[in-house]
Parts: sequence; C-alpha cells; structure tokens
Amino acid sequence: MSHAHELHFSFELFPPRTPVGWTNLPRLIGELAAVKPAFFSVTYGAGGSDQNGTYDTLIQVIKQTGIEAAPHLTCIGSTRTGIAALLDQYRAAGVRRIVALRGDLPATAISNAAPGEFRYANELVSFIRETHGDHFQLEVAAYPEVHPQAASPDADFAAYLRKVEAGASGAVTQYFYNADAYFDFVERGEKAGLRIPVVPGIMPIVNYGQLQRFSDACGAEIPRWLRLRLESYGEDKASLQTFGLDVVTRLAETLLKGGAPGLHFYTLNQAEPTLKLWRNLGLPAA
Ligand code: FAD
Repeated sequence: MSHAHELHFSFELFPPRTPVGWTNLPRLIGELAAVKPAFFSVTYGAGGSDQNGTYDTLIQVIKQTGIEAAPHLTCIGSTRTGIAALLDQYRAAGVRRIVALRGDLPATAISNAAPGEFRYANELVSFIRETHGDHFQLEVAAYPEVHPQAASPDADFAAYLRKVEAGASGAVTQYFYNADAYFDFVERGEKAGLRIPVVPGIMPIVNYGQLQRFSDACGAEIPRWLRLRLESYGEDKASLQTFGLDVVTRLAETLLKGGAPGLHFYTLNQAEPTLKLWRNLGLPAA
C-alpha cells in the first residue's frame, strides 16, 4: 500500500493475567514491534484494578522496543488526586499519548460518583488538558454502532462531541463488522465540523464464543450472515479462523479504501491473528 507511511496503525495489548502470559510477553511484543506500529496501547481496569507494578512493567517492556507506549486511563471510580498522580508518573516515564476513557463499573458506581469526581470521559479529557496542556496526545473512544448505555444515538454522538471539544486529539472506535456504521459516524463528525482522525478498531476473529461474549458486552453487532457462517464451523477452529481472516481483511480494505486514517488492532495478546491481517493487507514488513 503506497500511502501506508501516512497511515496510523496501532496495536492494543492488555496486562497479562497469568504467569505464562508474562513469560510470553517479551516475545509477543517483539513479534508485533517488528512491523513497526505507530504505538502500542495498554488497557487499564476501571477502578484501578491494574494499578500496580505490573502495568508499569508492561509499559517499560514496550518502551524497550523503541515503539511508543500509550497507556489507557479510565476515570470512573478514581479520584482527581489519584488520576493526577498517575499522569505525573506517566509524564515522568516519557509517555506522550494516553487513551482517555470512562471505563465500566456498575451503574450505581457511576450515579454515586462523589461530587467533583469524574463521571464521563469528557471530564477526564478536560482535566488532562487543564493540568498538562498539550503534553499528551489524547485518544478517546468512539462507537459507530452506539455505546450500549447511551440514552439514544444522538445523545451518544453529543457525548462524543463533548470529548472532542474537551481536547481529544483523535478517536479510536469500538470494533464493528458493519463498515457503513463507521462511514456514517465519520460523516456525522465531518458535518459537525470535526477534524480529528477516527481510527477504526479491528477485532480479529479467532474464537467465536469469546467474540460473542465481547460483542454482547460492548454493543458490537455480529451481522446475521456472519454469525450463521461462524456458527456453522462448530469445533473446526482452523476453518473458522481462515474464514474470519478473509472477512476482517475485506473489512479493513474497505475501511482504508474509504478513507480511514489507519487501523487500531485489538491483538488479544496474540501476535499471529494481527500479523496475518497485516500481511493480507500488504502492509510493510518493517
Ligand atoms: P464516555 O464517553 O464517558 O461515554 C460513556 C457512556 O455515557 C455513553 O453511553 C455516553 O453516551 C454516555 N454519556 C456520556 N456523557 C454523558 C452525560 N453527560 N450524561 C449522560 N450520559 C453520558 N475499558 C476499560 O475499562 N479499560 C480500557 O483500557 C478500555 N479501553 C478501551 C479502548 C477503546 C478504543 C474503546 C472503544 C473502549 C475501551 N474501553 C476500556 C471500554 C470503555 O471504557 C467502555 O466502553 C465505557 O463504557 C465507556 O467509556 P468511554 O470513555 O467511551 O465513556
């Protein structure tokens, strides 16, 4: 792809939950770093569940590859003081990009947020801009198929606008398999005068059960034809993955041809599904 150097490709990782996951991590990161993504982002548990040394270790392992590390930061259930301390820590560690999110907690925790503490991601973006100016590139989440808790599509779009107005530098979408939802979302943003890049989140299809669980939780639709085809493979994982790779390759091609400014891959901490997509798309090996 001739314009690949102008596009922005990033890989998302999560802090491993098992000792084996940690053992495999340097190899995983090494394999993914070899194709030189723009950055690795690292998910963060709402309420600070990953807020310990393991998270910092992961950021350090990424930095050793020479590729930028972008921590996700969720604000719900955290105090301003706690977030301020984390921001100082990231800044001291050389972090220049943060994925700024609300995070998920039970609805009661959101409505019971103490006065003055964070309730929505736009408040986190404002806080980071107030306290750190333009030091950080701030990515926010976007939902072409509408966030599951949104009162309406319009209310959700208004929430997205507030995040951009608060100072987001770019947006990364929830994954989806309907390209039209993405194009519609981008067009809506353009009509509202937004200029920030909206990078589609790409979820490889590796395990149907897992994909169904994720999709139910985050409001991503698996279209009927895709669901029926995936179901038809039963226990035949190899065929399912071959088919899934074709489908997601076609989706990614459609998005890039339609003007998407890059792709953000949800790697699921596995190198191969993302690297196979990478090769299928003809992206540079290094
Ligand atoms: P917001 O933009 O605050 O929106 C949340 C909901 O509130 C939406 O339904 C919105 O319409 C509504 N809303 C916004 N403002 C208002 C208002 N003023 N009044 C009423 N309703 C309002 N989760 C994690 O825990 N850790 C991660 O690392 C993580 N990484 C993610 C990365 C990406 C790219 C994406 C797309 C999601 C990620 N998530 C992560 C999931 C995310 O935290 C959840 O989807 C969460 O429910 C919403 O976060 P947000 O930042 O989009 O919230």
